[in-house]
Amino acid sequence: MPETAQEVLNMIQDENIELIDLKFVDLFGIWQHCTFHRSLIDEDAFTDGVAFDGSSIRGWKAINASDMAMVPDPKTAWIDPFMEVPTLSMVCSIKEPRTGEWYDRDPRSLAQKAVDYLVSTGIGDTVYCGPEPEFFIFDDVRFGQKEYEGFYHIDSVEGIWNSGASEDGGNLGYKTDHKRGYFPVAPSDTLQDIRSEMLLTMAKCGVPIEKHHHEVASAGQCELGIKFSNLISAGDYVLTYKYIVKNVARKHGKTATFMPKPLFNDNGTGMHTHMSIWKDGQPLFFGDGYADLSQTALYFIGGILKHAPSILAFTNPSANSYKRLVPGFEAPVNLAFSQGNRSASVRIPLSGSNPKAKRFEFRCPDPTSNPYLGFSAMLLAGIDGVKNQIDPGEPLDVDIYELSPEELSKIPSTPGSLEGALEALENDHGFLTDSGVFTEDFIDNWIQYKLDAEVNPLRLRPHPYEFALYYDC
Ligand code: GLU
Ligand code: MG
Ligand code: MG
Repeated sequence: MPETAQEVLNMIQDENIELIDLKFVDLFGIWQHCTFHRSLIDEDAFTDGVAFDGSSIRGWKAINASDMAMVPDPKTAWIDPFMEVPTLSMVCSIKEPRTGEWYDRDPRSLAQKAVDYLVSTGIGDTVYCGPEPEFFIFDDVRFGQKEYEGFYHIDSVEGIWNSGASEDGGNLGYKTDHKRGYFPVAPSDTLQDIRSEMLLTMAKCGVPIEKHHHEVASAGQCELGIKFSNLISAGDYVLTYKYIVKNVARKHGKTATFMPKPLFNDNGTGMHTHMSIWKDGQPLFFGDGYADLSQTALYFIGGILKHAPSILAFTNPSANSYKRLVPGFEAPVNLAFSQGNRSASVRIPLSGSNPKAKRFEFRCPDPTSNPYLGFSAMLLAGIDGVKNQIDPGEPLDVDIYELSPEELSKIPSTPGSLEGALEALENDHGFLTDSGVFTEDFIDNWIQYKLDAEVNPLRLRPHPYEFALYYDC
């Protein structure tokens, strides 16, 4: 894989590539792209960028201030596996061509500012992120009658077994049962080869791969494992992951979805995110506190827990996200930390005595998160915890099902809706803006866009289940 602009230019020359596809992430975590002839990509393109019209990108520029520039990162160059005409792909950050400044609503350059801020505090110089996106593969039918019934009208385990979750509704042999997808071999697992193709395609695009497997939910829930990396690369890898998963599924006549709760009453789709901070090549989270955590790690976790409702506006940014954050499906609901308890939103994985492996896992995020924004919000909350010595409280090592309602009510829980998370963000965002990483404009624009485009349109539409409840009333 090339590292420098010159190496990319050499590769274009040596491999006689005529077309270069420049990709950038929008506010909501979706790659946008434009393909350029190689005559437009010279050394300057890697510093000044390539001009494009940013006016029609959701939540970005107004039409009267639309000139923008995409600046490709040479470390992200790979041949796009889904384009028949050989085309080199690169991921870009966005500049304002008039001022030469990074655009303050560009998530990828915002993430770079968050990392630079970490360095400026002297706390650390590197943040490692290990995201674990999950997804479902379905047949290529969106909102067909079968899915409609399967998604909305089942309310029992038997219902699931006989619903859209089973492909033909007839012979139920070797159809994976409700919450039993993790992880019997074929013929129960019908997705082995498609996952293998996804994983190996990711490797060809420079993503450090580890494994793949079926996930817990009954119908086609999968996970591909990738290695941790620095925050910016981890963001790049999540988007590469989603691009490859969706396009390999499409190639096989299927669709992949990253929505957090596509099936009622079955496991949802998370994107647990592991994180640790390093300085001068040394890990900072190993120590002699609870679960072998250092005081820095405990304060960092204190910051995450304190600001979690607000962080969730970025790590769980969809109305559907909050249908996943309910008890009983391995998704977290308690704003607490624990070594073993999967209902706690911060888990400390067992990592033996290796200081380099010491990290925490934030279990709330889901893959509708724009990873650059979600990881940055986590990092800034953690930095706030370290700077202000925020105590994370007692670990939640009890079985929460054994707790009395009174004891349970003392444990704060995740917001119950997107609206709740946006309200938390409105009331608590100094930890994001005081450093200048997120601007006030960014926060206001985010809240307003989410209310106008998601919360309110959903509130105004009758839900299909309302017909089951009220049609005959
Ligand atoms: N699918 C679960 C979730 O919604 C996570 C399962 C796992 O532990 O990997 O978070
Ligand atoms: Mg998983
Ligand atoms: Mg996990």
